[in-house]
Amino acid sequence: MSQKIISIVISAYNEEENIAELYKELLKYTKQDRNIGSKYVFEYVFVNDGSNDGTLKKIKQLQKQDKDICIVNLKRNFGHEIAMTAGMDHALGDAVIFMDADLQHPPLYIPQMIKLWSEGAEIVLSRRTDNLGTSAIYKFCAATFYKILNWLSDTKIPSKSPDFRLLDRRYVDFLKGFNEHDRLFRGLLSWIMPTDKVKTIEFVAPKRFKGESKYSVFKSFALAMDSIIQFSVRPLRLATYIGLLGALVSIILAIYVIVEYYIIQHRTPGYATIMVTMSFLGSIILLALGIIGEYIGKIHMEVKQRPLYMADYIVSNGKNNVFKDRQGKR
Ligand code: UDP
Ligand code: MG
Repeated sequence: MSQKIISIVISAYNEEENIAELYKELLKYTKQDRNIGSKYVFEYVFVNDGSNDGTLKKIKQLQKQDKDICIVNLKRNFGHEIAMTAGMDHALGDAVIFMDADLQHPPLYIPQMIKLWSEGAEIVLSRRTDNLGTSAIYKFCAATFYKILNWLSDTKIPSKSPDFRLLDRRYVDFLKGFNEHDRLFRGLLSWIMPTDKVKTIEFVAPKRFKGESKYSVFKSFALAMDSIIQFSVRPLRLATYIGLLGALVSIILAIYVIVEYYIIQHRTPGYATIMVTMSFLGSIILLALGIIGEYIGKIHMEVKQRPLYMADYIVSNGKNNVFKDRQGKR
């Protein structure tokens, strides 16, 4: 029986300073590892997500020395989730490990993931017990976001569960069947998660090796909003409830005004009440319209069924015979 292949998929956007160090660490815990190095064949799928620095150049340099490196070069920046998808589409492995390029997902844990997989786990997730790269405020916001998301959504997404994971080929093939543009791997995985054969490793995420996070506060907020919409239609229901509540308050207010006018015979000038009521109702209507608009916008983008990304592939790994019979799968 031929050796099993393990693909490591790395998405990189402007990570020129991290590529060499990442590769060095990767080698140490894959091909050069005493226990797994000779047992499995490794391929390293680097996805360049339209970087405008020297990331692609750095990966190409590495590929000259190491024929097990494949490059998926996205023609522009498509975002982390699509970059991971492109890497997954291209990976040939029996197991695929996803990780970031900034060393916040330490390659040190790869042998442990592979061991769990070889013992029968089909999905190996990671849980970040701490993230040394983020502030307390960020952690608080992230925790609050996951609470809101999980309250609104039927698909429960665990917090502190980064994109550092191993998937068996069975799940990779299954995930390839999802063709939605707006995608959150974490959520899709929760959706297909089996009740057994899932293992989790724990780790402390160090600070990124070099460079800055690619997620600004604004980008993180947009991702949070997108994630809620992807996995739930409950905000629409919420708009209806708020509308109903507003109607109820209006009826009570109307009764009060009538009683005040005819029974108490007290006539307060209505100007202030009208202004407050109007602005209150106006904002509720706008909020409801906004929520509906968000969903319609998403439908508009998805119905076009455009391809998820545009890429060229700079593939080598021809050296190893085990790859030959799988090449057609790309
Ligand atoms: N990334 C990407 N495309 C993007 C943004 C980020 O491929 O549009 C990659 C980035 O190079 C890194 C990973 O996704 O390898 C995670 O990004 P980052 O470290 O900036 O996020 P954080 O760890 O701060 O959440
Ligand atoms: Mg990072």
